[in-house]
Amino acid sequence: MITIVSKQAAREQLNHIVEVIEQEGVQAHIAHAPDHTVVGMIGSIKPALVERLQQLPGVEKVEKVSKSYKLASREFHPENTVIQIGDVKIGGGELVVMGGPCAVESAEQIDEIARLVKAAGGQVLRGGAFKPRTGPYSFQGVGVEGLIMMAEAGKKHGLLTITEVMTPEYVDICAEYADILQVGTRNMQNFDLLRKLGEVRKPVLLKRGFSATYDELLNAAEYILAGGNPDVMLCERGIRTFESYTRNTLDLSAIPVLQHLSHLPVISDPSHGTGRRELVEPMTRASVAAGADGLIIEMHTDPDNSMTGDGVQSLFPDQFARLLRELEQLSPIIGKS
Ligand code: PEP
Repeated sequence: MITIVSKQAAREQLNHIVEVIEQEGVQAHIAHAPDHTVVGMIGSIKPALVERLQQLPGVEKVEKVSKSYKLASREFHPENTVIQIGDVKIGGGELVVMGGPCAVESAEQIDEIARLVKAAGGQVLRGGAFKPRTGPYSFQGVGVEGLIMMAEAGKKHGLLTITEVMTPEYVDICAEYADILQVGTRNMQNFDLLRKLGEVRKPVLLKRGFSATYDELLNAAEYILAGGNPDVMLCERGIRTFESYTRNTLDLSAIPVLQHLSHLPVISDPSHGTGRRELVEPMTRASVAAGADGLIIEMHTDPDNSMTGDGVQSLFPDQFARLLRELEQLSPIIGKS
């Protein structure tokens, strides 16, 4: 059960509402969303308490949201969330394509890839400056320099940028240079990071943990929303299953299920979802057919010599361009522009 308090309510009114809830032995948890304050209530909530709350000044409504995540649920927010960044709208019926290398390697590399992403019709340049690697001896990314290189390439070629942030301390600097902040699969439940992302005014792409359920992903998104940042997109990037032919199993059902449970845009990552270049194109088409609001796809000019060694899942530039041409034809058929 939640109580929605108007943004105009005075601090004393909010304090009084919390007092009334707690007097009944119910726990109150406050989250400041952009248009209102939400007071989550945990405990046995009697009808008399609901009636009393409904009469208090500042209370807009008292609602039952059956899910553990509230702000992320469609029950709470029936309309789709549309995230607008410049002229790009994510979740609003346009198919958004984010493309680029696994990692930023040099200014020349990211500039050339940005040119190719733009020429193919992509809207967002992807690239990691800080890389979460399984082993400590693998290339860890070029760091802040990479953020600067990517911001310059994005600006020069008219693309938005997305990059991964791994720790709360780096959120501000990543937010200074990138248009979208990515939370990687390994950090989906890094709650300090999620809380910090709730405080920034930059959209967040939250990747599903490789062994996380939909419920866990939506609760992770709730941390960001409850912190006051409404611009969260969810990303299906494959989960770990018993199948070892593919790096992960891209769970296509996640796309319609998450769209049913939540109003947040859903992005698919067929590169990490399969780990195999030859599967990226068919799984991109399948993601679009399943209703994805956007895609995040790895593309590299020299995948076989990429510094992360993840080139096997990166498309060559001509494959990326061909895929985007195909999507232009496919999108209108399934109601996307
Ligand atoms: C990435 O997109 O660069 C990445 C590391 O993805 P994931 O967190 O899904 O492995």
